[in-house]
Amino acid sequence: MQNLTINQYLRAHIRTVPDWPTPGIQFRDITPLLQDAKVFRVLIDAFVHRYMDADRRPDVVAGLDARGFILGAVVAYELNIGFVPIRKKGKLPFTTVEETYELEYGSATVELHTDAVKKGDKVLLIDDLIATGGTMMAGKKLLERLGAHVMEGAAIVDLPELGGSEKLREAGLPLFTLVDFAGH
Ligand code: AMP
Repeated sequence: MQNLTINQYLRAHIRTVPDWPTPGIQFRDITPLLQDAKVFRVLIDAFVHRYMDADRRPDVVAGLDARGFILGAVVAYELNIGFVPIRKKGKLPFTTVEETYELEYGSATVELHTDAVKKGDKVLLIDDLIATGGTMMAGKKLLERLGAHVMEGAAIVDLPELGGSEKLREAGLPLFTLVDFAGH
């Protein structure tokens, strides 16, 4: 790792793909972080070290479709707690609650199983990236509708210029992110 901080090390393994999936979008591709065994461990540990402390330990991790599943499931496993998926509409088989929201590109509806969390559960909500914050806000609302308390939102990347992280914090959700990308 030479003299890089953990955040710089992780940042160096995020690939920017210009104009994908549509012109004007700088897609921040996190797959190179997962592909390298050593980087993957540094990434997961950055989350696990934060949430293993007794005062920050969640009861359950909720992951946002789809890259939030990759991260969230591993973090939950390492913390020895359960994982629940918040999925795009039409994928969950049991009874669900749903929420529709605007994306950076397009709009989407996400769903959560009605028995995914219990009233009063402390939930850590995970995705790979926060852009406009719409996805994480929708996840927060679903979990709260079931009576859970979303203690923190976590992501690898924040795009602060899109205002999503600010909006989420203003809505009362503390956030933990590892890498900021300015310049949209
Ligand atoms: P948002 O709801 O606008 O905060 O968008 C966050 C969701 O969209 C996350 O699940 C990301 O995976 C995806 N996303 C949005 N913008 C980007 C981007 N520029 N690069 C990579 N993923 C993105």
